[in-house]
Amino acid sequence: MTIRIAIVVPCYNEEEVLPETHRRLMALLSRLQAAAVVSHDSSVYFVDDGSKDGTWPLIESLAKSDARVHGIKLAQNRGHQNALMAGLMSAEGDALVSIDADLQDDLGVIEAMVQAFLDGTEIVYGVRDSRATDTFFKRETAHLYYRLMRRMGVDLIYNHADFRLMSRRSVDALRQYDEVNLFLRGIVPLIGFKTGSVKYDRAERFAGESKYPLRKMLAFAINGITSFSVVPLRLITFGGIVVSLLSFLMTLYVLYGRLVMGTVIPGWASSVIPVYLLGGIQLLSIGVLGEYVSKIYMETKRRPRYFIERSL
Ligand code: UDP
Ligand code: MG
Repeated sequence: MTIRIAIVVPCYNEEEVLPETHRRLMALLSRLQAAAVVSHDSSVYFVDDGSKDGTWPLIESLAKSDARVHGIKLAQNRGHQNALMAGLMSAEGDALVSIDADLQDDLGVIEAMVQAFLDGTEIVYGVRDSRATDTFFKRETAHLYYRLMRRMGVDLIYNHADFRLMSRRSVDALRQYDEVNLFLRGIVPLIGFKTGSVKYDRAERFAGESKYPLRKMLAFAINGITSFSVVPLRLITFGGIVVSLLSFLMTLYVLYGRLVMGTVIPGWASSVIPVYLLGGIQLLSIGVLGEYVSKIYMETKRRPRYFIERSL
């Protein structure tokens, strides 16, 4: 049995790696086609996420020289998750594989993903076996983040980014999640069809620089939490209860001192410290509330996630 697959690659300013990515992807596709694992109309979709360099002209020329290459050009930069979504929603095939453009993920395991799909698995996660090529900082913060998410009840696949295979059925299920704040690696496990995983070693970026600077990474991490968990809100309530209880005990203590013992409380430290402390807790709490309110704000607008300017 041969199946039709499509490999979806979001690209933002990737002109340095794209020729090599294209070369390796086509070699892989040709090999799988020759072995009759995948059909001859299997293809690759490069999604240009509003790049400012020569990425789109490059995709155009690649698409012209090989019918198996498709290009999708977003009207402007909408971020990795939206670019990936645009590709998944447009690509045709029985199974769609998403992968980054920078060759950090091992193309070699795509065949194993397809095999798992043929054996009846609907979603196959690519899972990093080691993070040896990441910086100490990235490795540790990522580890902490997965643990934090788990604590807050969010089901994330440990060490899995957006390298995965999805069956047609699961992509159609994904289509029904129309939230604007996309966090795909949180949504996909919610779909619930049979899942599996393949392990691989993550390499270093083949060329070019990371398109995820610390600022974007932080925003992405916060988005992941506030899109999937209301635990922070509950923590505020809990903190409020604890502080109120303490204040009540404090009141009892002060009244006892004043009425029974007759001591005059100097009172400076005991009134100034709570003011600062409570002020801080309140500001933080309002900030957390604000995060959620801004999510609601964006979601209620129901704005389109992206526009496709051209597709080849
Ligand atoms: N990317 C994108 N839009 C963006 C930022 C990144 O489509 O606004 C793509 C990028 O081209 C790459 C993938 O998302 O294919 C992952 O980015 P990168 O490899 O730079 O992230 P890192 O691996 O450093 O976390
Ligand atoms: Mg990368």
